[in-house]
Amino acid sequence: MKKKMRICNIWMALVVLLLACHCEGTPPKLTENPAIKANQPLNIILLIGDGMGLSQLSSSFYFSDQLPNFARFKTIGLSNVIAANSKITDSAAGATSFASGIKTFNGAIGVDMDKQPVKNIVELLSKENYQTGLIATSSITHATPASFYAHVASRDWEEQIAAHMATSPIDFFAGGGLKFFQNRKDGKSILDLLKTNGFEVHTNHLEKEIDASKRHAFLLGEEDMPKMIEGRGNFLQESTQKALNYFEENESPFFLMVEGSQIDWGGHDNDAEYLITELLDFDQMVGSVLDYAEKEGNTLVIVTADHETGGFTLSAKVTGQNSKDEDEHDYNVIVPTFSTAGHSASLIPVLAFGPQSAQFSGFYQNSDVYHKIRAALAQ
Ligand code: MG
Ligand code: ZN
Repeated sequence: MKKKMRICNIWMALVVLLLACHCEGTPPKLTENPAIKANQPLNIILLIGDGMGLSQLSSSFYFSDQLPNFARFKTIGLSNVIAANSKITDSAAGATSFASGIKTFNGAIGVDMDKQPVKNIVELLSKENYQTGLIATSSITHATPASFYAHVASRDWEEQIAAHMATSPIDFFAGGGLKFFQNRKDGKSILDLLKTNGFEVHTNHLEKEIDASKRHAFLLGEEDMPKMIEGRGNFLQESTQKALNYFEENESPFFLMVEGSQIDWGGHDNDAEYLITELLDFDQMVGSVLDYAEKEGNTLVIVTADHETGGFTLSAKVTGQNSKDEDEHDYNVIVPTFSTAGHSASLIPVLAFGPQSAQFSGFYQNSDVYHKIRAALAQ
């Protein structure tokens, strides 16, 4: 036992020595920035599972062989996602609440009740020398990502939304939506505009090496990215890792929003397999973000959703003729069921990790997610 301990100590000393050698002469890492107060996050990563209510999140505990990465969070809150003009929100109003800290009407992208543009967190932080990035498994012009760079009165104006990307401060984005950037109804090429504004545009795949001194646009689908069950592969995790590497190379703080867009679509389709495969893909990406945040110690990670979709329930299997009879249920078999093809009004889980994450426990409004992020950065 003692001998083992001694060997262990020698190993520890070696590791410390190696680490010390490695640090000497290398440029300061983000964690070593002396301007950073210990309790203040440097980077913000906001992970949105579109349509991910508590039952959706719960399904990751039952439909996977491993404990989900969601289980690694210690701070958990619940948010009320009601929109300004209706009890049940859509993704546009919901994402505008996260991006700009206001409540607005369903369909609104970065505008208030008077359809006036409201500054979003990407615009504010980019003025403070932050790098910014957006990733989605939908078109990048879809309501959730759009609310972080565009200002239009309707989520359906996706060509207009694409044009807003070219003049936005976004440094890195990845998703689908190529058709809104080229061969447009108005004849304009937003791809050319992106290039003029310093973007390197990639339309084939996630290149291994990218030039960190440039801005990067990955438009990898005509419209949506494929479903997981149709072979999307590891796009979400890989593009997120690519964004993190890119930000690290540039050595200034960053804000990154990553959306698991299609959890919502599985809900709308009342298709449990579609929903759960998208959810597990999202959880996989959450895991690699948590690995990064644990390693760096300076990154606030928030996982939440804009709303619940499908009235999703993890019900017991009905064994007899009468689904209203409790005795005719098998409590050992979970059968996912849906009560609507639309969204529902359930409160939404918020999971947080990193400096200032404690602020995210309790009950609050979805717009408070924005205000809590701003407050965390102002500590
Ligand atoms: Mg969405
Ligand atoms: Zn939806």
